[in-house]
Amino acid sequence: MTDTKRPPDMEQYILGHLDEALANDWIKVYVQPVVRTLTRQVCGMEALSRWEDPEYGLLSPIEFIPVLEEHRLIHKLDIYMVQQVCESYQSRKNRVAVPISVNLSRLDHELCDIFEVVEAAVKLNKVPRDILCIEITESMLAKNESMMHQYIDRFRSAGYPVWMDDFGSGYSTLNVLKDFEFDELKIDMRFLSKFHTRCRKMLAAIVHMAKEIGIQTLAEGVETEEQFAFLRNIGCEKAQGYLFGKPMTFQDCVKHVADVGMTWEAPSMRRYYDKLGSLDVLSAAPFARRGKGGQAPTGREMNSISMAIVELRGDTAEMLFANEAFEKTAAALDWPLLWDHCAEPSRVPMSRVSQRLQKLLEEARSEGEGRLMSVYDNDYYELRAKRLAQSRGVCAVLLNVTNLSRISALVNQQQLDDGLRSLYSVYEQVSLVNLNDLTVVSLHLDQDATNKMPTGSLLARIEELSERRLYPDDRERFRRFIDPATLEERAAQEGSISIYLRVLGFHGNYDWRNYQLVRIRQNTYYLLVRGAESEVSELRSAYREPERFDETLTPELLWENVVDRAEMKFFWKDRERRFVGASRSFYKYYDFHSPSDFVGKTDDEMGWHIHNDPYRDEEWKVLNEGIVSHRVAGNCISQGVERQIMATKMPLFSRDGKIVGLIGTFGETDYHTQGKNSVLQARTDNLTGLLNSRGLYEDLFAYIDEYQLRERDFARVEVAIDGFEDINARYGYDFGDAVIRETGRALLRCCGNTATVGRVSSCYFTVLRQFDKPEELDELIARIRRIPSELRQIDDVPLSMYLSVGSALYSETGNQDSMAAQAEMRRMTDDVENISRHQLMENTRRIFRMFDELPLSYAVYKVISDENGDDAIVLYANRQFFKMSYTTPETLIGTRVSHFFAVDSNDWIRLAVQAGTEGKTVSKRFPFGPLGVDMVASAYPVIGPGFCAFTFRTLENWTGPDAQREGGSHKPSWADET
Ligand code: C2E
Repeated sequence: MTDTKRPPDMEQYILGHLDEALANDWIKVYVQPVVRTLTRQVCGMEALSRWEDPEYGLLSPIEFIPVLEEHRLIHKLDIYMVQQVCESYQSRKNRVAVPISVNLSRLDHELCDIFEVVEAAVKLNKVPRDILCIEITESMLAKNESMMHQYIDRFRSAGYPVWMDDFGSGYSTLNVLKDFEFDELKIDMRFLSKFHTRCRKMLAAIVHMAKEIGIQTLAEGVETEEQFAFLRNIGCEKAQGYLFGKPMTFQDCVKHVADVGMTWEAPSMRRYYDKLGSLDVLSAAPFARRGKGGQAPTGREMNSISMAIVELRGDTAEMLFANEAFEKTAAALDWPLLWDHCAEPSRVPMSRVSQRLQKLLEEARSEGEGRLMSVYDNDYYELRAKRLAQSRGVCAVLLNVTNLSRISALVNQQQLDDGLRSLYSVYEQVSLVNLNDLTVVSLHLDQDATNKMPTGSLLARIEELSERRLYPDDRERFRRFIDPATLEERAAQEGSISIYLRVLGFHGNYDWRNYQLVRIRQNTYYLLVRGAESEVSELRSAYREPERFDETLTPELLWENVVDRAEMKFFWKDRERRFVGASRSFYKYYDFHSPSDFVGKTDDEMGWHIHNDPYRDEEWKVLNEGIVSHRVAGNCISQGVERQIMATKMPLFSRDGKIVGLIGTFGETDYHTQGKNSVLQARTDNLTGLLNSRGLYEDLFAYIDEYQLRERDFARVEVAIDGFEDINARYGYDFGDAVIRETGRALLRCCGNTATVGRVSSCYFTVLRQFDKPEELDELIARIRRIPSELRQIDDVPLSMYLSVGSALYSETGNQDSMAAQAEMRRMTDDVENISRHQLMENTRRIFRMFDELPLSYAVYKVISDENGDDAIVLYANRQFFKMSYTTPETLIGTRVSHFFAVDSNDWIRLAVQAGTEGKTVSKRFPFGPLGVDMVASAYPVIGPGFCAFTFRTLENWTGPDAQREGGSHKPSWADET
């Protein structure tokens, strides 16, 4: 670059030619590949600007960026880069869909609203936010801290990963990490350029620290294999530098990657490797072989927790990593295990792995975790396996071998053996509770112990045991007993702590058990459990307190039990038909979480019957006439599905014989219950549990019936996840399913028990709901539109979801087919100005393709009104129209009429408004039509308010009312052959 000629005054040249450079595409987006150290695959790109000057050749950002910053023009460049990167996404995504990062200058947010610029470009091009990464430099943060917090949070909470660039180049580095939240650190290349021991140690420490606080790491400026190996060994997840490729055009980059034999990371694997990379265990991994570089071990390298990662693919396994501690422990054992191969990572068939380990790995793959115990050479070993990440047939399992004889630190082996052996004969369970890391390690479990405290997180296990197995009255006592926050203090005062609890046994009774915590050393306890049925009866008689334990069946107790446990769903209401209370099974049925969800409301207010009247009338009869209503059939909406139920209601009397309310029970009728395997299933969508198209169709008739009988209007709302194929392609089908499931759930949350919700197919949902006021529909749609902001993350994966929504009221057409078409059309043209042209064409062609070959010019417009007045957007045009107007779908579809027909555009818009908004059929002659031809255009209402169709004829074919008058003009019929 230095030998190319340069303008005498570079600064003036740049300032004087910036606009020209932007307008004429002299500014180019170059990309540099980023590589995942674990796999050496290309997992990302950084966009870097280059100025390809027609006179002075290639200018580097080092030459023009400081000038643009100094003169406060940098935002022009950054806006341009963001827009270019987003625009290229649609054409790039099928070949390469790895994340791409852009650099923002510290001045951008002062010079423009850069967040809105990024949002607009992303929305326009439907770019998933999680693959557009924002790089900001440390120097940016020095100024105006609180403003920078807002700036970063705004990007992050919208779903953009924010990266700290050039980390370590400034002086306040650690403060920056303390004060701001980032997703990734790009470690300054100076650490690698001086690649001596001190720098290496600092790099290892930075990576360690980043992992501790949950940030990914990327090292810049990697130029040698030695540097790369080091980074991989310390667990740095990504690397970027000349070793893998210089910045180049996107096309060159694709070619370069193929030429050097690298591959692109499949989008569906990104999540999987991100998860693996976040593990600290990687950092300690290959130190066993670090000898060559001669680095001194860090504290972490000597970590004594033995860890390894095994990757399972089909029926093969590969040990990706094993740390030193793991290798040592494993080597001491006589198992022909995988670690024979870990010096040279290689994939082996599962058949070469010992059977016990195979079983353990399989257990982890299918169940999530597994564990086996073994005694070897007088030592107790525990081998634990945990599934870390999984994607399309690949699964990573974390292995940990622990020598239990050592961890207990109980003086010596003999003592441990003796101690444990005698403990096991008395206690059905022996576990080790560690308050430092809040874990429980199960040391011994009787075959038939029912109240297991298996190995795992202490808090999770406490919750599990108390919710599932403890007698409700004992739960709180148990939590207090094992409360880690106070345990040390209590133990110091009392030594061993003991409690009697009623625990559910196999036969369904609660049996007394004794739980004991015995302190071994600071923060470490044995948890010992044994049966105590007989002991408790002894205690009872000793203390002569039979009534405490032998409660008679008082009415209160009976009532509590029935409310809590009866399968029958029942509720009670006051004289005004308002709910007062209900059984637990009732809560479950409607998925209520608290009484406030329904207490104080009537059925009508809950909106859960399509037909309200029968229930209202029945209930008034019960309350006013004391008549019991027996098994009255009806329907109600529960969790988005309209269900057939049978309800029985009877009056409740006060002691002086006055009706004070009613009590009702109900169940689903046989139609559903008997047919759980047939009818209900046939109506249900397996993936989401919502209705399927059959179920929706059946319910639709109930809504129509109610409309016809009582004129209760209802709406059909169509909802679709736009770009769903991309989500599937990028994250795999399992994740795609999760997105559909979560969207279904979110829809249910929006509509609850007041609407019918179904999934028609793939990513298409339909909601049916009755309305009294139009605002209720607006409210529902607004809630549905907020779903993408609620689902910013699914299964730990950041997600940018776009929903299109369209609705129609039954009263608009009085016909269910037209209603469906109208709602669908509105959905497809939802957000019509932001939807990509490609998507719009696809959508509208699906509806209008029968017009494609019509021998008459035909187009469909959507009328829009905004601050600039009325206008219309071309949604569809047929072949004949394109031929007549010399346009193509790419230039015409999605265009505003005012832009397209420069001449007479007001006349065209007026026609569109008359047809689309006022529902009229209108024609107008354009003697010097837009194409210089004498023609007549006719506009008709189609689909529903807001839409209209246009047909065009040259005058030779005109047979309308003005034909006589205008018929004299004979123009060539180049357009319409009819
Ligand atoms: P950066 O974001 O830290 O980008 C990395 C720089 O290091 C790039 O220089 C790249 O060419 C260079 N590099 C990459 N690998 C190696 C290597 O292995 N060895 C060596 N010696 N260098 C390597 P470049 O493209 O000249 O960009 C310089 C800086 O200019 C960037 O630093 C970035 O901060 C800024 N920049 C580039 N494009 C833009 C832009 O569009 N907007 C803004 N605001 N800043 C930009």
